[in-house]
Amino acid sequence: MKRIILLAAPAAGKGTQAKLICDKYNLEHISTGDLLRDCLRNEDNFSLKIKEIMESGKLVDDATILELLKRKLNNIDGYVLDGFPRTLAQALSYDALLKEKNENLTHVLYLNVDEEVAKKRIVGRLSCGKCGRVYNELIEENKPKVLNVCDVCLEQLTKRKDDNEEVFKERLRVYNESTKDLIDYYKNKGILHEIDSNVDTSMVFNQIEKVLDGDI
Ligand code: AMP
Repeated sequence: MKRIILLAAPAAGKGTQAKLICDKYNLEHISTGDLLRDCLRNEDNFSLKIKEIMESGKLVDDATILELLKRKLNNIDGYVLDGFPRTLAQALSYDALLKEKNENLTHVLYLNVDEEVAKKRIVGRLSCGKCGRVYNELIEENKPKVLNVCDVCLEQLTKRKDDNEEVFKERLRVYNESTKDLIDYYKNKGILHEIDSNVDTSMVFNQIEKVLDGDI
């Protein structure tokens, strides 16, 4: 059974690739960002605190993330983790959790992308609240046919509140500060695979398929 971590700079396309991987290999997509956004629906003190942190681009505390993940991993076997771990401390806690469950991590895919490419992808990102399709107003081939309207459902497109340049810079800073330790950690374990994510979606996925099919 495959248990995969997607490690990536902001906007390396991890959400998109996670979906493609899950569809092809029949795995569950677990995004800690989505788990947190699900909590925001509650409007209690806990949600307000999380909302503030997420909108600033900083990281939510490890204990909260671990608790959400633990709950989610109950009764799930093969999966792709998107957005977790973000820090070495989270990686170590996750290792302990796997040990408890007598399971192992099979692949870490490191989606590497240049800063300028990432910025365009984030600042221009628009999505459809109805079908989840994602567009980009700054990248020609990903623009919707009609400005701000979903090509398929004709629904008005929306921008995530944290998809702006200021938050992007903060997320990149946080990423550079905390996440690079993870790359070394998993490299040393011999399960890290670097994927060039400056290219288009299908070319990124081709590289991933080669790794997961065991050709590399
Ligand atoms: P994402 O959807 O993965 O881009 O995450 C959006 C925001 O949720 C991040 O900027 C963080 O504030 C928070 N977040 C998501 N995953 C984690 C995590 N593993 N650890 C801490 N904070 C997280």
